[in-house]
Amino acid sequence: MLNCDRLQRRKARVNMEGALVARDQVGIQDFVLLDSITSETAFLDNLKKRFNENLIYTYIGTLLVSVNPYKELGIYTKKQMENYMGVNFFELPPHIYALADNAYHTMLTEMNNHFILISGESGAGKTEASKRILQFYAVSCPSTSLLDRARDRMLVSNPVLEAFGNAKTLKNDNSSRFGKYMDIQFNREGEAVGGHILSYLLEKSRVVYQNHGERNFHIFYQLVEGGEEETLRLLGLERNCQHYCYLVQGGTLNTVNYKNDWKTMQKALFVLGFSEKETEYLFGIIGSILHLGNVQFEADSKGYAHPLTACCILLQLLGVHVQVLQEALTFKKIEAKTEEVLSPFSVDHAIYARDALTKALYDRTFTWLVNKINESLENKDSTKKTVIGLLDIYGFEVFYVNSFEQFCINYCNEKLQQLFIQLTLKSEQEEYEAEDIEWEPVQFFNNRIICDLVEQRHSGIISILDEECMRPGEATDLTFLERLEERLGNHPHFVTHRLADQKTRKTMDRGDFRLLHYAGEVTYCVVMHQAKNSIVKHCFPPTEADSKKRPETVATQFKSSLMGLTKILTAKEPWYVRCLKSNEDKQPGRFDHVLVRHQVKYLGLMEHLRVRRAGFAYRRRYEVFLHRYKPLCPATWPHWRGVPADGVERILKHLGYSEDEYKMGRTKIFIRHPRTLFAIEDAYEICK
Ligand code: ADP
Ligand code: MG
Repeated sequence: MLNCDRLQRRKARVNMEGALVARDQVGIQDFVLLDSITSETAFLDNLKKRFNENLIYTYIGTLLVSVNPYKELGIYTKKQMENYMGVNFFELPPHIYALADNAYHTMLTEMNNHFILISGESGAGKTEASKRILQFYAVSCPSTSLLDRARDRMLVSNPVLEAFGNAKTLKNDNSSRFGKYMDIQFNREGEAVGGHILSYLLEKSRVVYQNHGERNFHIFYQLVEGGEEETLRLLGLERNCQHYCYLVQGGTLNTVNYKNDWKTMQKALFVLGFSEKETEYLFGIIGSILHLGNVQFEADSKGYAHPLTACCILLQLLGVHVQVLQEALTFKKIEAKTEEVLSPFSVDHAIYARDALTKALYDRTFTWLVNKINESLENKDSTKKTVIGLLDIYGFEVFYVNSFEQFCINYCNEKLQQLFIQLTLKSEQEEYEAEDIEWEPVQFFNNRIICDLVEQRHSGIISILDEECMRPGEATDLTFLERLEERLGNHPHFVTHRLADQKTRKTMDRGDFRLLHYAGEVTYCVVMHQAKNSIVKHCFPPTEADSKKRPETVATQFKSSLMGLTKILTAKEPWYVRCLKSNEDKQPGRFDHVLVRHQVKYLGLMEHLRVRRAGFAYRRRYEVFLHRYKPLCPATWPHWRGVPADGVERILKHLGYSEDEYKMGRTKIFIRHPRTLFAIEDAYEICK
């Protein structure tokens, strides 16, 4: 049924346009299909030419390159979605819908799992791309009224997670401050029946501190500016963001209209099935965080901290007794041999404790929210399902001051780049070798070395950090830095103050270390004056004094979760969207050559193109190919009694293909151009 529709659609289009490969006339829409582009300059010129005509998408084979236009292009209409439904990849101009559709149909035909890896630096358009894909599935997949609810819930999970997990940064007004992996589950009929979200390391320090020109998470402004009078009254809040210390760390900012966002979010919570009580609880926490941020302390004659303000509403919202909160903020519990001793805090300490409490509170609320959404998206029926995973994770970022969070974010990007290299450049070339296909190797930079620098057991930065965290009291940010220097000083991608001049010819501060990432240099600040984001402090688990067994540090937890993610992804078939940032100033239609060139370079797009161009678009094991296409040749239909490879060759010869269009490997057939495959597939559909 599905195939039939698809064929009809395609036929109509092929007749209309008179060619199987449609071109959009501007530049070259697939770098692989046309051989004139060999240099980086030509590559960039082509991107720019297309960008200037509002053609932001270009292919490298099945990889989609997208350049952020920073303006609405009118290319995401329902009509456009319909155009791309059930059409072969190369028939229409490149589009995110084409990729989404192709992944979907491949999944249905082959009954296997897929994922779409969306990468690029902060502000390049990853989150937009992932939203477009989800919207496309919501419209293009068949559905029943029962399933409409599952679909609606998946769609509205976005505004909720964005409200709580996104914020304005210098790079992006709607920057994702958490990593998100979402599985969309489909049944055999291709209906979207459920979903599941995994979230990765929320940047929780933002809730208490924002760099200049940046903001806290959207939800706070939505509540204060958009919340109903009654809601604000119950939470004891004023309608004035300036009033809340946690909201103005980044300086005074022009107001944005958050009222509509608040309404959208409220509606989304309703669709997701949050009860009134749960919503109340949720905003109670958001309100209490704002109140917590306004709690100030004064020192008594001994220098011990006392809260200046006793905020009744805060206690009420958190549901704790005044004494409990006061002790939590101004005393540290120390377990002595037989008793608990309370050691009083100084004012600085008390502020630190307050902020730590806030961060933990927000982080746990976020986790709770994701769990609730997952309950709502869960599909309980146990029939077999296949999935398409969407990975939209925070992009590589470099700020003026980079702290622990940037370290994690950039490490995560190294891991994803490594996965990309593994799955494309490396495995592709290894496969040719294994299959005895003649091949001129393509050189590429393998960032494995940087991943190892960060994560290697016993000798990587995270291990060294863990070791330092085993010595609370003795370890400081400076001793951590010394250890790094001792152990990693010779590493070509690691630089500290003492080594800076020799390695990168740029001086740096005593309290910093620098990593030469695949995407550029980043200097991380270890020793921070405000102590807010300092790396070692960040990694001391907050309950250190209470627990006998030290829990894992945040960095180690993050490392394990990335290992888990890599495992999830490698079990699926990959699709790639590489997002490029067109300029640093969020300006519509401006193409900054230097900036784009830099991204093309570090994303390895030229290498990818070389491998793709020299390589083969399609390969299948002989048995699989033979099984599908044997009706195309009298010699192989209905049974081929010889070895599968010979059968496959008979089919291809029968269809009139010459030997430069395919190559016979040891176990697989390799086909050079996608259009050859499409023609075979067309023949198959007609004869079926
Ligand atoms: P990332 O997730 O990579 O950090 P976003 O997807 O949030 O970046 O994109 C940043 C901003 O760029 C968006 O808020 C939007 O204004 C603009 N943008 C991104 N992609 C597109 C697109 N395809 N069309 C129009 N504007 C876009
Ligand atoms: Mg994003």
